[in-house]
Amino acid sequence: MDFNDTPEQAAFRKAAADWLAANVPSKDEIEGMSRLEVAKLWQKRKYDAGWACIGWDPAYGGRGASAIEQVIWKQEEAKYNVPAGFFVIGQGMMAPTLMAYAQPQHLERYLPKLASGEEIWCQLFSEPAGGSDLAALRTKAEKDGDEWVINGQKIWTSGAHYSDYGCVVVRTDPNVPKHKGLSYFFIDMKSPGIEIKPIKQLTGESDFNEVYFTDVRVPDSQRLGEVGQGWQVSLTTLMNERAAIGAGSSGVNVDLAVQLAKEVMIDGKPAIEDSAVKARLANFYVEEAGLKYTSYRTLSALSRGDIPGPENSIGKLVGAPKMQQLASFCMDLLETSGAIWDTKRSKLADNIIGSYMGAPGLRIAGGTDEIMTNIIAERVLGLPQEPRMDKGIPFTEVPTG
Ligand SMILES: Cc1cc2nc3c(=O)[nH]c(=O)nc-3n(C[C@H](O)[C@H](O)[C@H](O)COP(=O)(O)OP(=O)(O)OC[C@H]3O[C@@H](n4cnc5c(N)ncnc54)[C@H](O)[C@@H]3O)c2cc1C
Repeated sequence: MDFNDTPEQAAFRKAAADWLAANVPSKDEIEGMSRLEVAKLWQKRKYDAGWACIGWDPAYGGRGASAIEQVIWKQEEAKYNVPAGFFVIGQGMMAPTLMAYAQPQHLERYLPKLASGEEIWCQLFSEPAGGSDLAALRTKAEKDGDEWVINGQKIWTSGAHYSDYGCVVVRTDPNVPKHKGLSYFFIDMKSPGIEIKPIKQLTGESDFNEVYFTDVRVPDSQRLGEVGQGWQVSLTTLMNERAAIGAGSSGVNVDLAVQLAKEVMIDGKPAIEDSAVKARLANFYVEEAGLKYTSYRTLSALSRGDIPGPENSIGKLVGAPKMQQLASFCMDLLETSGAIWDTKRSKLADNIIGSYMGAPGLRIAGGTDEIMTNIIAERVLGLPQEPRMDKGIPFTEVPTG
């Protein structure tokens, strides 16, 4: 692949950069606003100007941009400190699932509001009994006329507390093998019977929640895929989740670590002059370059019209520990200042400490390191599959501990 822009790509990059320079909200404009309010303001501004979800069909608020143009846009937008995380699940994971399975009237109703940031969606998959093994989930739905009645509990639901809609996988038939008894719905998060309890994290924030369902009613028309086909629909969401998380490049990077090493001192000299510091930075640089070129491989495949393969698992398996190690290295350089999380004192330290606290979660979210290793072992290297005790037997007969 040629890493230089073609003349058309260069023109697209310039148009994106010019628009961003003129439209990113100023500090004064967002003074006193919450992160969510700023994110909504920025998303709506992009939407109104045709820069939101640019790969989507224009009928749903996009501009039909190519995979390369989407990357160019992301690269240019990444130069600014604008909040984006609130929309990743809805736009990056739920929207592709809706596009694959929802009825046309649902697409017209929900996609533009997802693109404009007016409505936020969450992903109600994980449960105490079904995390890595999603198909072991126990939240059930029973049919009652044209509706289903849901009872059970979800956990780790990012953004449930500010979401308008969510996608939920439930067990509709416990008498068939576990993957065959699931169905997939989208649901109004304000439905009676939904209770959302925040979970406090290491960072002090509460970004995710426990969500309880007590006799929650959802219309059958909000089912995506056939009854019992929930596993296949979930795979569409999960494939997009790995791509969305694997592609993530926020948080500390080598440039920031180099900047820090120039600013802090070791034995009266800038840390960047210390040979041990230089050696660590060089190692991180090599890892980061490897990740970058692996993601370019995905991009080359996408631009040829191929579907991204298991290389997204490699990106996550290497990228998340790298983020954790780099943040830990930067914390060492910060010495005792790293213990003070004061955003007003140092924006640099804020980013480092945020990454240090957030990296353990990144190694779990969207599939743990161990699960990624299993995927690479089985699907890339073709090694024998793990023994599966519950294969082919009805879910009700699966032994539980
Ligand atoms: C920041 C964050 C945000 C999240 N957001 C959401 C969300 O919005 N919606 C949602 O539904 N979920 C969300 N999750 C949950 C996440 O998807 C699960 O935590 C993850 O899938 C792991 O499941 P679990 O926590 O139940 O761990 P378990 O599956 O119980 O795993 C426990 C340990 O056992 C290991 N293990 C399990 N199975 C195997 C195996 N077969 N081979 C080897 N080792 C194994 C795991 O790697 C792990 O170390 C989020 C998690 C985090 C950290």
